[in-house]
Amino acid sequence: KSVVAIVGRPNVGKSTIFNRLVGERISIVEDIPGVTRDRIYSQAEWLNHTFNLIDTGGIEIGDEPLLVQMRQQAEIAIDEADVIIFLLNGREGITAADEEVAKLLYKSNKPVVLAVNKMDNPEMRENIYEYYSLGFGEPFPISGSHGLGLGDMLDDVVRHFPQLDEEEDDEETIYFSLIGRPNVGKSSLVNAMLNEERVIVSEIEGTTRDAVDTRLTKGDQDFVIIDTAGMRKRGKVYEATEKYSVLRALRAIERSDVVLVLIDAETGIREQDKKIAGYAHEAGRAVVIVVNKWDTVNAGEKTMKEFETNVRAHFQYLDYAPIVFLSAKTKKRLHTLIPAITSASENHSKRISTNVLNDVIMDALAMNPTPTVKGRRLKVLYATQVAVKPPTFVVFVNDPDLMHFSYRRFLENKIRDAFGFVGTPIRIFARRRQ
Ligand code: GDP
Repeated sequence: KSVVAIVGRPNVGKSTIFNRLVGERISIVEDIPGVTRDRIYSQAEWLNHTFNLIDTGGIEIGDEPLLVQMRQQAEIAIDEADVIIFLLNGREGITAADEEVAKLLYKSNKPVVLAVNKMDNPEMRENIYEYYSLGFGEPFPISGSHGLGLGDMLDDVVRHFPQLDEEEDDEETIYFSLIGRPNVGKSSLVNAMLNEERVIVSEIEGTTRDAVDTRLTKGDQDFVIIDTAGMRKRGKVYEATEKYSVLRALRAIERSDVVLVLIDAETGIREQDKKIAGYAHEAGRAVVIVVNKWDTVNAGEKTMKEFETNVRAHFQYLDYAPIVFLSAKTKKRLHTLIPAITSASENHSKRISTNVLNDVIMDALAMNPTPTVKGRRLKVLYATQVAVKPPTFVVFVNDPDLMHFSYRRFLENKIRDAFGFVGTPIRIFARRRQ
């Protein structure tokens, strides 16, 4: 998917535009305790294009002077985006900071769409000509607060999208990424996997922007390890900021079939771990929880059980994710990881035939009668799987409002009992059918 970044000085209206473009599309399927989605990265849609949008203004980089911040935001946009929306404030004209940013963007050779915000009425739009001087072609007068001019601007944005990368859609290959706090051992684990016996490795340079993915073959299964920030440190200032690592993690998650959520056995579970894990769950990816640095724990069966109980208590929404205990350093139990990834990925793309599914649903109905709400009983007619990655089911009912969370959960458990689905979330939607 193409990535669009919005760059501009503080108060030019980046967040307003971001929210307009994203609209109400951020639909969080269920409430996950401890997860608050940072509104700096989200999906947007225009005509037949779905793309990802970054609000670089949401990435605060300490209390650097304005010019330094602007420079860093521009660098983030240049590193991360296919198309950059450079936003100016039409009530202030072109400032020195704008010119500074313009120079950087100009040098990058990335497509830039110039948008001049706060052009709320036609008289103001007469001033648009001065913005040609920045050298990015036609400037688009827009009004974020009134929602004017956004269509023309977006037409220009999507015109600049690159052709789709075919590499990304290789069905047989399992794409996975490693996410976790700094120092949980992401790079160490990648290196350990690459150095395993009977593993064939090749780097895929510059797969997306300057990321470096690694192809790995074990037996007859191909994998691609998606590069994440913090794994290859390039030493740019903004890479140390938390929001930027969240952004990189979100982008890695999006390209993954399976996400490995790393936890440090030595330090235990932290608040940040839960937040990071929440992103993988929300995105509907398969998840394997990896407890790394297991060499530092005086390990016996009992400690493993204890740690597992602790993980389950902290990550209740990830109850489907298997837990793998290992040490990237000593390579102890490392061999258990690839099978866990493979099986999670298989379950993530598993299809259940409608016949078999309905046998299970009918058994479930017989076992636990549907609830009655205000004298009306929920009637379940039939169910069908409508999608994979993650497996998604539609249950046709007399009235979706009668399908309560607890009954949905009951059906989910029955489906899991029957078909496994270890490592993958599953989604169930109720639809009306008379
Ligand atoms: P990243 O920031 O998540 O990529 O973490 P690194 O891979 O750079 O590792 C951070 C530190 O943890 C380094 O000092 C590693 O040597 C250490 N480390 C990584 N894995 C293990 C492990 O399994 N056991 C122990 N004892 N240390 C580890």
